[in-house]
Formats: sequence, structure tokens, C-alpha cells
Amino acid sequence: MPLHLEPLDVSNELEEYESVLIVSCPICPPVSLAAERQSPVIEFFKSGIKTRAYEDHLQEICEPLEKRGVRTSVLTIYAPCPMLCLWTTGQRKRLLKRARDFEAVLVMGCESARYTVEHALEDTDCKVLLAMQLVGITNATLKSRFPSTIALDNLARVRANEVENPTSIGGR
Ligand code: SF4
Repeated sequence: MPLHLEPLDVSNELEEYESVLIVSCPICPPVSLAAERQSPVIEFFKSGIKTRAYEDHLQEICEPLEKRGVRTSVLTIYAPCPMLCLWTTGQRKRLLKRARDFEAVLVMGCESARYTVEHALEDTDCKVLLAMQLVGITNATLKSRFPSTIALDNLARVRANEVENPTSIGGR
């Protein structure tokens, strides 16, 4: 199911901000980065439940910002719902509270993730920027390697409009 998202270069857009909160969806983005870098999704004994390829990417975003004195932080909320597109009111309030200290929020996720963040922050001056773009839907065989590694095998990217003969809604 995960959407396949590719990172966008937003370094120019971030130049005018002195504080950036990265709001990260922990579902599709890590799987996408693992697929891009042909790296495992989970290596429990090396990085716990985090995906190393994705954590490396977050680091690559933060490092240049911090070098020029920008304050950065990463917000990922796993419970009660990890999917940013389905966050509860409580999760949206937690984001609002956290984002008040930042000039910009960088969304790691899809357009629906951005929608959630914009909705939660609609009464603030926070600038919301999207840092990934949809390029398809991931299909893979999930492979478990003893004792603690989960990887993607037979990886394919399915186009979102793959249906050859779509049935029109309400039509015949
Ligand atoms: S917000 Fe987007 S990226 Fe996150 S789980 Fe939902 S569909 Fe995937």
C-alpha cells in the first residue's frame, strides 16, 4: 500500500527561515527511502524500528540547516495513529503546540500529509512546505531475514492511474 514518494530539494525555499520543524509521517516516507536506496526497512539491532535510509535522509536535510544556525527538530507521532493522513484531533493539537516555536514546517509525506499539517496550523503564521512528491505506489515482497531485518524484494512502482479500463462513477 505505501505510496512511493521521492524527496524534493527544498533548500532554496528554506533559506529565509531560522527555525524549521520537520513533521514526518513514519509510513510511506521510510519505505520509499528504503526502496530508493535499496536498503532494509528495518534492521532492529542496528536502528530499532527506524529505517536507516530514511534517518540518513533526515540527517542530510538537517545538517546544512544547522550549519548555518537554523534551529531544527523532527516530530514523528506514532500513537494512537502513525499515519499522518489519519491523525486524531489530539495528535493535531500536539503538532500545533510544537509548531508554535517554529517559522516553517517541512512535511515529509504526501499531499494528504501536507493537508493534515495545514489544517492543524491554519491559525498560525507557520509556513508549511512539502518535501516529497508522489511518483507511484510501492509494490514489493516483504522479506524477513533472521533475526531482525525486514527488507523489500521484487520491488515495483505502480502508477497511480494503472487501470486500463476505468469504470466511470455512476456510469455503465
Ligand atoms: S499521510 Fe501520506 S505518506 Fe503518510 S501514510 Fe498517509 S498516504 Fe502515506
